[in-house]
Amino acid sequence: MEWLSYIILAWFMVSSMARPCTPKDGPGEVYLFFIKDAQGRYVVKIGESVQPKERKSQWNRKCWPEEHEWFAYTIHVPKRKRMEAYLHQWATLRGAWLGRVECKFCHTRHQEKFYLDACGGIKEIIEAAEYIAYLKGWTYNWRKL
Ligand SMILES: [Zn+2]
Repeated sequence: MEWLSYIILAWFMVSSMARPCTPKDGPGEVYLFFIKDAQGRYVVKIGESVQPKERKSQWNRKCWPEEHEWFAYTIHVPKRKRMEAYLHQWATLRGAWLGRVECKFCHTRHQEKFYLDACGGIKEIIEAAEYIAYLKGWTYNWRKL
């Protein structure tokens, strides 16, 4: 990431530290998959789960026949919901959020989708996730999905 991204992320995390964690939060995975929008632009979905393999098949069923390219690894962290929220905020600060758009496959308004190029690509998402874990003092590991 560029140095300015690190500063913005650190500032954001300091300013949000007062917020309590949701009691349902705990260890688990943050997963990613990619889809293409009607213009052929890549969109990334950033989600969390304790059972990422089951979540993957749920998504594949729910939004069938949408083509999901799953990122092969999930990041395991002690607070998966908090990690997901930070990544959503980070991507939103970069102007990557799609907004509340209706899914043409399942007709729900998925809210956790972001333009991949506006995120800076998968490499920047990985760096942001690792930097968040570092700032929180969390041990994390990338696990094969
Ligand atoms: Zn859908």
